[in-house]
Amino acid sequence: MTLTKDLIDVTSKPFGTVFADKMAVTWFRDDAWQPIQIQEMAPMSFSPATHVFHYASSCFEGLKAHRWADGSVHFFRLNQHIERMQNSASMMCMPIPEADMLEQMIVQGVAACEGWVPEPPGSLYIRPTLIGTMPNIGAAATPSKEACLFVIFSPVGDYFSGGSRPLRILLEDTKMRTSPEMGMIKTGANYASALRLINEARENYNVDQVLFAPGNDVQETGAANFLLINDNEVVTKSLDATFLHGVTRSSLLELAYDLGYRVSERSITVEEVLDWAKTGEAALSGTAAVLAGIGTYIYQGKAYQVGSGQFGPNTQKLRDALLAIQRGELADTRGWTTPLR
Ligand SMILES: *Cc1c(COP(=O)(O)O)cnc(C)c1O
Repeated sequence: MTLTKDLIDVTSKPFGTVFADKMAVTWFRDDAWQPIQIQEMAPMSFSPATHVFHYASSCFEGLKAHRWADGSVHFFRLNQHIERMQNSASMMCMPIPEADMLEQMIVQGVAACEGWVPEPPGSLYIRPTLIGTMPNIGAAATPSKEACLFVIFSPVGDYFSGGSRPLRILLEDTKMRTSPEMGMIKTGANYASALRLINEARENYNVDQVLFAPGNDVQETGAANFLLINDNEVVTKSLDATFLHGVTRSSLLELAYDLGYRVSERSITVEEVLDWAKTGEAALSGTAAVLAGIGTYIYQGKAYQVGSGQFGPNTQKLRDALLAIQRGELADTRGWTTPLR
C-alpha cells in the first residue's frame, strides 16, 4: 500500500488538526444500531435541540494504528480501547456500542484510508465518539434514547517534534479535575470540568498541565496518567473510580516489570512527589505522547526541579520500549498489536 499522495507533512501540523478523507458512522434508533457506513469525512447535521449540546451526553476513545517497516498497518490494544468505550457509554447512560460493530467501524474505516497512516515517528490517531442525539431539551435528567457513533482518523506526527522538552506541571492539592464518580469515564464533560483551572494555571504559572491531588491524593493531570520512575522502581496510583485507567499506563507497568523494575500501585502524596523529585524521575502517560518526562513542578508558588530537570533516562528507556512494540521493531509477546489485514 502506498501512502496517500496528498498526505501533508503531518509532522509540521499541530496534533489532531489533519484528518483522513473517510469516517465510519452508525446511528442508534428504535432501540437498535443501524448498519455501519464508511463515508466521506464531512460536516454532519444535527438539530439544535440535540441532547449532547445541552446535557453533555458523550464519550470518546483515542487509540493509534502504526505503520511497520514492511508497510503493514497494526492497531495497538484495540480490544482494550473498545472495552473502555463500552464502559464509558454505560456510565454515561448511553446506548452501548457492540464490541464487534465498533471493531468493524475502526477496521473498515482504517482500511478505507490506509494510505493516510504515516510512517514512524508518525501514526494514525483514531477517535471513536459517541453522542446522544435525541432532540429534546426537556430531557435534562433522562438518558438520550438516540445516539450517533462515529470514528474519525487523524494522521499525527511525533508528539515531540520539537525535541523531548521536559514538562512544567502545577501541583494542585485542593481542587478536583472532576467529580470522583466521573473520574474513570472518558468523556468531554471531564475536560470541560478541568479546563478553567488548567487555563488559569497556564496563564499564572506558564505550566503545561495541572497534576490534580485533591485531599493530598495524587491522581492524574487533565489528560494523562502520572508515574514516578527511578532506576529500580515505577510507582503509580492504584486503580479506583477517581481517574482514567490509561491503556498506556497499564502497558508501561507490564513492560517495566519485564524490564526488571519493581512496580508499585499505591497512593501517592504531594510530599512524596516532591521528595522523589530530588533524585528520581516523573512522567505522564497517554496514547498521544506515550510517555512524557516532567522537568519542573510548581507548588504553592515555588518551583521544584525534577531530577536533572531533563527527560530522565528511565523515562526514555520505557518510552522507547513501548514505541518499539507499537512499531513492530520489538517482538509483541503479549498480543497487544493486531494487523489491519
Ligand atoms: C485518555 C486519557 C488518559 C490516557 O489514557 P490512554 O489509554 O493511555 O491513552 C489519561 N487521562 C485522561 C483523563 C484521559 O482522558
